[in-house]
Amino acid sequence: MPSSQAIQLSAQGIRKQYGHFTALDGIDLDIRQGEFLTLLGPSGSGKTTLLMILAGFLEATSGTLMENGVDISRRPAEKRNFGMVFQGYALFPHMSVADNVAYPLRIRGVKAEERQRRVKHILEVVGLGAHMKKKPAELSGGQQQRVAIARALVFEPDLLLLDEPLSALDKNLREQLQAELQRIHRQVGTSFVFVTHDQGEALALSTRIAIFNQGRLAQVDSPEDIYDRPNSRFVAEFLGKMNLFPLANVTRNGSNASGHCGDNHLHAAAPQPLGNQPLLLAVRPEHMDLHTERPDLSGHNIVAAHLTEKVYQGASTHLALKLGQDAPAINLAVPGNHPGAQLASGTPVWLSWPVQRSFLLEA
Ligand code: ATP
Repeated sequence: MPSSQAIQLSAQGIRKQYGHFTALDGIDLDIRQGEFLTLLGPSGSGKTTLLMILAGFLEATSGTLMENGVDISRRPAEKRNFGMVFQGYALFPHMSVADNVAYPLRIRGVKAEERQRRVKHILEVVGLGAHMKKKPAELSGGQQQRVAIARALVFEPDLLLLDEPLSALDKNLREQLQAELQRIHRQVGTSFVFVTHDQGEALALSTRIAIFNQGRLAQVDSPEDIYDRPNSRFVAEFLGKMNLFPLANVTRNGSNASGHCGDNHLHAAAPQPLGNQPLLLAVRPEHMDLHTERPDLSGHNIVAAHLTEKVYQGASTHLALKLGQDAPAINLAVPGNHPGAQLASGTPVWLSWPVQRSFLLEA
């Protein structure tokens, strides 16, 4: 993958209106050379709409698409050199794998010899070198999707757009294809824009993730930054699990803040300026420890809680806890052999977590 952070395609102020309904509400998004950018968000948040606008299958109501500094907003799909992979494979059933993959080269007038060379190469890249002569029906779902990927890459597109390409596959095959897709991306170096609503898939594959919420971008960052430093409650709860403690009487001291949650005085890092909304202290469950006796730890938040629910999940046990009657539930998982996994409902326990793992979000 090219290390350059050059911007290849830039969506500027993209809006899409269906009558009174706003599907996209002013999207500003840069696609960098060679990156694997995932569009992630709940159903109906506008991911596919943006992908279709990038592809040229759908016209934006307003806004501009710039490719390497050139305005391509009005350029028809067939004049954009972008590859496209959909959820359904859309292969020609009567053609062999090789002929399916050769098709985009044929319509571009590429000579037979060169066609053969490129088809052979790209089928090897996707791991189907031995299946060239087969018909799509003779292949598994995962293999058919790899043919579709090969067909979208064979003409060396400037950009590959993928709309939920793995969602029709069962879990094992999907995980296998995720690894394949990552390898293919590294090998060809083309920028990938990938739509999914699967958080795990987004974390595993992407260079960057763009999180959509109701036609707007909630956050665009690396998977690590989005997971460790979500900029809003929506992002924090959409990607992974988050425990949230409502805080009252918040005071700030430099880069730290503290406040009250019931009888507990809790501390957090407060890097971003926050408005006048009520605040929540946020912490990922995996940063929390469960104790059967009050621990003696400095630099940690420590709260008393009681166990309300326990769900055995094999390697781990899921625990739900409460700080008080009206407090929100706290969730965490402990390893199967942890003493917490043996406790009965109602048992008083203590939770601890490092102050530097706690941060504030607007409620
Ligand atoms: P999903 O994950 O379910 O595919 P998405 O994030 O890709 O969702 P889009 O398909 O982009 O969402 O749709 C965004 C919104 O625009 C949805 O509320 C959808 O109902 C609406 N929408 C899409 N196409 C049309 C249309 N042709 N007419 C009216 N509304 C539409």
